[in-house]
Amino acid sequence: MRHRVMCNLAAAASALVIAACTAPGPPPTSAPAPAREARVLSDPAPDTDGVLRVLVLHDMEGLAGQDDARMFRFSHPEHYARGRALLTADVNAVIAGLFDGGAGDVHVVDGHGSGNADPDLLLDQLDARATLVTRDEAFRQYVDLVEPGVYDAVAVVGMHAKTGSGGFASHTFTLGMDIIMNGMSITETELVAYSFGRAGVPVIFASGDDRLEADLETMPWLEYVVTKRATSASTVELIPVDEVRAALRSGAQRAMERRGEMRAMTLSTPVTAALRAVPPARLSMLRGVPGIDYGDDRVTFTAPDFEAAYDGVIVLIGVARLGYASVLDETIRAREDGQAIFDLNADRLFDRWLDVESGRWTAPAPLPPAPRKHHGAR
Ligand SMILES: [Zn+2]
Repeated sequence: MRHRVMCNLAAAASALVIAACTAPGPPPTSAPAPAREARVLSDPAPDTDGVLRVLVLHDMEGLAGQDDARMFRFSHPEHYARGRALLTADVNAVIAGLFDGGAGDVHVVDGHGSGNADPDLLLDQLDARATLVTRDEAFRQYVDLVEPGVYDAVAVVGMHAKTGSGGFASHTFTLGMDIIMNGMSITETELVAYSFGRAGVPVIFASGDDRLEADLETMPWLEYVVTKRATSASTVELIPVDEVRAALRSGAQRAMERRGEMRAMTLSTPVTAALRAVPPARLSMLRGVPGIDYGDDRVTFTAPDFEAAYDGVIVLIGVARLGYASVLDETIRAREDGQAIFDLNADRLFDRWLDVESGRWTAPAPLPPAPRKHHGAR
């Protein structure tokens, strides 16, 4: 496939060029190294089986008619129920448009992770022509289902702007994370696009608030539908839902009709990846470790390819999440019995230490996961 050839060329050239780009010091006196492209855009891989198969990946923050963050959280049942109905309506509108535009098969996968073990979508109301992707093992969010020759396009629905964009519920992967690939701070939509780009599959359609539309100026070929206007991370100006759903349908149709003009995108390799943490996340616990490229709550590393970069970022996200404990600390401190809880915890910590040192404690064996169907993010 064409994009693979381009990737390999980039890989062959890039090790040298990256050094030239990042090394400090006086400008070179000889001819400067060519600027390294951060990404490679290519034509979509041709359809091989005569059926245009589209994967719809949905999130749950960028829905029409949604103006309350509790609507995407399973822990708030009344609001969440409303969110599920809105989600199903937006996804159905997009599915209808994709079929209008020539899709022969549409699969749907959850990219959200509300905390609900069941799908966020109301399956009894989902367009019967579409199939929810399920399997027995857990999904690796954004990087699974990428195989050449399976999907011809990806449409993302109900998405949100990235950390720092001021969009409704803006974040990247989880709270307080800014994912940077080859110097570009990216949205989850771009994460999906770089992942599927590896198989020559373009993201052709996206929906979300007006701030995400601005974030996605990096993908000018997209059919994008604005579902609402963000006035802060927790407030929006809504647009009448019927108007938005009509736009979702016609936008998805146009996206299919324009598939040939879409671009599959891949990151040039090796990938320079970074995670920047903002409160409530933090990475400052890694400051001062020799060999770790740390600065300003950001850790940077080089990985051979997208998947290795993604895996590294996920590990760093796990570290940065430790910062959330500062909020737990505040929660406990604010309680009347807060000090008693801290004292109890300190005793437990000391008991654990002494038990381990005395050979009285062994780590409990992890429980085997209860068998269940997975349908995406969780
Ligand atoms: Zn998301």
